[in-house]
Formats: sequence, structure tokens, C-alpha cells
Amino acid sequence: MSQDLFSTQEQEDQARNQVLDLIAQCPRCHQKEDDVQMIRKAFELANDAHRGMKRRSGELYIFHPVSVARVVAEEIGLDAKSVTAALLHDVVEDTSITLGDIESLFGSKVAGIVDGLTKLEGVFDQSASLQAENFRKLLVSMIEDVRVILIKLADRLHNMRTLSSMPEHKRYRISAETLYIYAPMAHRLGLFNIKTELEDLSLKYEHPNEYAEIEEKLKQSSEIYQQVIDSVSVPIRERLEAQGYEYELKARPKSIYSIWHKMKNKNVPFEEIYDIFAMRIIFKPKEEISEKVQCWNIYSIITDLYQPKPDRLRDWVSTPKSNGYEALHTTIMSPGGRWVEVQIRSERMNDIAERGFAAHWKYKENGKETEIDNWLKSIRDMLENADSDSMEFLDNVKLNLFSQEMMIFTPKGEVKIMPVGSTALDFAFEIHSKLGCHCIGAKVNYKLEPLSHELKSGDQVEIITSDKQTPKYEWINFVTTVKAKSCIKEIFREERHGYIQAGENALSEELQKRKLSINARILKKLMRTYHVSSREDLYYQIGKGTIKLDNIEKSLTQKSTSKWVKMWRLTFGNKNTDDEEDPDDKEAIGMPDGKKIVLTDEAQRQFTTASCCNPIPGDDVVAFVDDDNTLVLHSRRCPVCLKLMSSRGNRIVSAQWESHKVLSYLAIIELSGIDRQSLVSDVTKIISMEQKVNMRSVHFESHDGVFSGSIYLYIYDTVDLQVLIDKLLKVKGVHSVVRKERNELN
Ligand code: MN
Repeated sequence: MSQDLFSTQEQEDQARNQVLDLIAQCPRCHQKEDDVQMIRKAFELANDAHRGMKRRSGELYIFHPVSVARVVAEEIGLDAKSVTAALLHDVVEDTSITLGDIESLFGSKVAGIVDGLTKLEGVFDQSASLQAENFRKLLVSMIEDVRVILIKLADRLHNMRTLSSMPEHKRYRISAETLYIYAPMAHRLGLFNIKTELEDLSLKYEHPNEYAEIEEKLKQSSEIYQQVIDSVSVPIRERLEAQGYEYELKARPKSIYSIWHKMKNKNVPFEEIYDIFAMRIIFKPKEEISEKVQCWNIYSIITDLYQPKPDRLRDWVSTPKSNGYEALHTTIMSPGGRWVEVQIRSERMNDIAERGFAAHWKYKENGKETEIDNWLKSIRDMLENADSDSMEFLDNVKLNLFSQEMMIFTPKGEVKIMPVGSTALDFAFEIHSKLGCHCIGAKVNYKLEPLSHELKSGDQVEIITSDKQTPKYEWINFVTTVKAKSCIKEIFREERHGYIQAGENALSEELQKRKLSINARILKKLMRTYHVSSREDLYYQIGKGTIKLDNIEKSLTQKSTSKWVKMWRLTFGNKNTDDEEDPDDKEAIGMPDGKKIVLTDEAQRQFTTASCCNPIPGDDVVAFVDDDNTLVLHSRRCPVCLKLMSSRGNRIVSAQWESHKVLSYLAIIELSGIDRQSLVSDVTKIISMEQKVNMRSVHFESHDGVFSGSIYLYIYDTVDLQVLIDKLLKVKGVHSVVRKERNELN
């Protein structure tokens, strides 16, 4: 805590002692005397180099690299070289020490890792995002040496643990980036504990109130659950002991983030989440029998005692997840009527689950390719075929990290792990790019299906090809895997490149006639008009002729309020953005770094609300400065906003919304319940009686006595909305009323 009480000398000694502890505790660090010397030397170098620097919290900077090194050694279980690199990870970026110095002192391996962890410097073209470029560099280094990303995750974890001393807008940006990229990365590498902690910390900073609420409820319900689990486990323990098992039985709550995520996703209150607690049985395997058999034996013991939920059996013992996770999960009914999830793991499986597969991977040298190898290979493919569009690249990485997986079988019964949402064509490309290129359809479970057919876990798929078939660029619309996407792009790269060039030239000529040249603002306008998401796509379509420039005049003069950014409802005055300067200059809107802007009704001309999430006063919002230099407000939960914060976080401004109840904003609510006569009129009557609310549209549907409906309304703020929701919930027959956060009709 208060490091000020200690002199610099004392603090440095503390840090040094932590390193000595680390060496003593970590079995992979003290085996060789050389390693011990290397780590100590790295500490002294980092300590000297960072001397005089402090973190925002007030403690000496050196505690940061030391903490990162401890995570690397103690929580991920890496080797001495990684610990060395972790200690040195910030010296090249922040001090006068060069990579050359590190190479001559610690060798090329350590220097290579430190290089991978050092951010890029220099100027990028306007469209590129420095954040995304840095991320790309990190991935390139990761392919060389997976330890780079593991240390980066440790670095991020420590930064998240100490985030409270950062200013608010940076907290949002860093939390959003963590949630968008780093937590999925940790998951993909099987670092379960780190992933969970990263998610929980992000949530805590992004939505402190909701976090605290769930934490409190979890505390309250944990007593009840502990009793349930205690009573359930008594007979299980008896039988396990009777069969001579050595085991550990633990009860664990789900993480706060995963509970929150489930509540949001399924729109249910905390009380309706039934599998909040899980019981974990970790056994020491008996030597003569395989671990798999023992897992199933324990499963059988448990299900002899309790009824399992039929659709909740998860067998990751026969086929581990691609991040290496192995376990058997089932959900059983306890005598008191509550569901309890049971996870069965051997000690080895538990170690992989907690510390990650990646730490074991490098040293498992039996020449066999593991899933991690395959994954690294797919990242390499992606980097080699990467588009110049850094946002799209980020999307691809994100796609690649998706954890939802399914098993697809080849005609010969071989299993392939594919992301959920993959199509028959994805599967064809997964097997071989040639197969993908000539694919005309597939037999899915012996039934003929088109290329675009979406597969389900357990499908057996035979790809049908024809020599006459040639790949089509449009295929890109129904493949989801990075592999298939980059294959298709690669095939059309040259052709596409030609069109892009031609399109750019055509546009440039057309603009010259009007004494204009291509700039970010014009491109943005055109992209809006023609509904394309990248400038490359715009040029391509112009070049190919699918976008005609005949109407260019009209789209250039069109106000930017069209589809993407909805001007505040009552703003009819036009903000003239045409004479504004450099759109990439954040100072242009007069926001000094770190200040929070207060949004009042009076200031409404200066900002707009994003149509993807429709925030209203009272919501947690951030403001994003778009290419037109307009402040766009997003809900902090909005996925579009998370992506923006992860890629263009320098354009995020923290904002607080104060409403003086002059302007109203669009909100969407969804209702459901049991239908009865005149229900709709009762509901709409209540809304029209509310002075503070205006209805825009109402849509109701009824099926077999159950109704569902959505209502679009204009409202001042979240307080008024809650009052209305509470009133609607009292209407007879209405079971649920929830605000819909995303406007999916848009
Ligand atoms: Mn760092």
C-alpha cells in the first residue's frame, strides 16, 4: 500500500527479495546456476534502467516487471528465459537500453521475446490503427515464440490488477481491449484462471455497480449452495473412498463475469441462473487404469446416486477442447431440487485447465502436432494473407479466438474441430484448399446440401467436387473460418487488386472534376451511401462497376445523419462539418486528454447517439470521435463500442450524461406473457398516459396463447424508463418487460 513509508533503497530491496523468492519457488528457474544468474542479472539491469520511474500508484516502476515475472513463473509456470524476458519487457520501450544491449547480455532468444513485447513507434497512415498494428506485431512474434503472448498476458493481468490508479477514460479503453482480445486469447491458450481474472476485472471497471451487485448476491447464495453441495457430496465421498480413490472435492461459484454475461445474454435475473455453483472432483489416477476409464467410473458413481440432466453431459475426455481442456462435465439434480454441475478431472487435467496447455506444449516433444500447433499455423496463414485493413484484421483474429466449437466427422470417421457457424464450404477448405476451390456441395449425414449449408456438431460431411467448379469471390459471404476466407481472398488477390486500383483512380478523377481529392471524410460519406464497410471494398466495387459514380454529387452533399449516426431527435439545425480540419486530430474538438465531458441537453448539437445501441441519459456511455469529428455516444456494453475501444481507443472520450429532461431519446422495450383480450390496448393505454413518454411504434404477436411484443418509444432517461417498466409489469398477463439494448432492425 503506502510505499512512501519506505525509502527508495528499501523498496528496491523488497523488489529484489521478491525475485529471489520467485527463483526459489519456481522449479524451472533454479535447476541450473546459469539460469539463476541470468534472472538476477536481468533484475539488476531493469532496476537500474527504471530507476527514478514511478507508476501512477506511486510505487517504484520496478515492481511492475517483477510482478509480471512472478505471474509468468508462478501462475503460468514458464521457464527461466521467460522470467528474464518478463523482467526486461519494458526496458527497450521506456529506457535508453537497446535491443542490441539485451542481445549481447542475454542472447538472441531473450532479445527476440523482448522485441515482440516492445510497441511500435512511428507514424501510421490515417486509416491504420496503432493499436491494431501493435497487435499484429505481437502475433507475428508469437508465431516465432509462443512465450511472447504468454508474457504479454501476464503484463496485461498486472496492469488490470493495478488499473484503479488510471484515469477513467483509460480504464474504459484498457478494460474494453482486455475483454475484446486478451481474455479470449488467454482462453484460447487454455489459461483459464488468467482469463477469468481478466474478465472479472474488466467488468469491475466497466460496470462497477452491476459487478458489486452480483458479488453481493453470490455471497448470499453461496451459503445455501454450500449446504446443497455438502449434502450431495456425503454419499459421493463414501463411495469414492470405498473404491479407494484419492481425490479432492471442491465447490466453486461461476465467475462474476460469466454470471453477468449469462444474465445479459438470456435476459434473466440472477435468481434464474441455475448453475451458479459447480462441484469439482479432482482425482489422483490409479496407475493400472486409464484416466478416461476412471473419469467415467466416477461419473457412474455419481449418476447412480443422482439423476443427471440428459442434455448437459460434456465429454472433453474422449475429445479434448482445442485449447487442451480435458474433463467430464455433468449436471445433476440435488434432493432439494437444485441443479448442480459436476466436473470430473484427473490431477493432470486440472493442471492443464488451470495453468494452460501452452506451458506444457513446447516441451512435449514427440513429434506430434498438437492443437496449439494447428492454431499457431492458422494465425500464421492469417498474417500472411492479412489485408491492409487493420480493423478487418482485428475481426479475423477475434473470429479465430471464438471458443464455441463443434466436432465434424469426415466420411472416414476422422474428427475435425470447427468453430460453431461453419458451413460445408468451410469444412471443405479446412481439409484442403483444393477441395474448397472445387466444391459444389456436400452430403451432410448422407443428405445432399448446398455449399452454404451450416453444419452442426456431430455431422458427418462428405464434400462433393467437380473439376468444372471454379471459386467465386461471393463465397466469402458464407464462409466463417479464417482459413477459408484467406484462401478465397488469396485466389482473388491479384484480380481484386486490379479492380481496387482502377476504382481508386476512377474516384480520384471524378473528384478532380469537382476540385476535390480523396480524403477520410469523403470516403466515409461514400461508404455510408453505398453500405460498404472498408475503403478497399468501396474501391473494388467502383472498379468492378457495381458502384456507379453517376450520383456522386448527391452522396457528397448528403448529410452524414443517414443510416449510421442518428442525430438527436429534436435537432433540426444542421451542423456544418465541411470546413473542419484534419479529422484525425482529436484536439480539433477541443478535448484535452483525460478530461471527462459533461453532456447536457443544451450541448446536444455537438454529439449524436449511436444507432447500434441507442443509449439514453442514465446509461453508462462513452463518446467516440468519428472520422467526421462528431462525438458519437455509445453504451459501454455495446459490442461495436468494445471493438472501437480495442482498435481506436485514442478516440475515446469519457462522458457523463446529464439530462435536464428537454430532449427525448429512442428506447426499445420487449414484452412477453400470457395473451388475453384487450391486453395490447391495456399496455398502450399505460404508455400513452405517461406524460414523459412518446410511442413511435408498437408490434405485437401472439402464438398459442403466448404473446411477445416490442415497443419503440421516445423517453427522457433511464429513470423514466424504469418507472414505465415497473408499471407495465403490473399489467395482468405481462410476465417480462426488458429493454432491448441493441437495435437489431438497423
Ligand atoms: Mn508492462
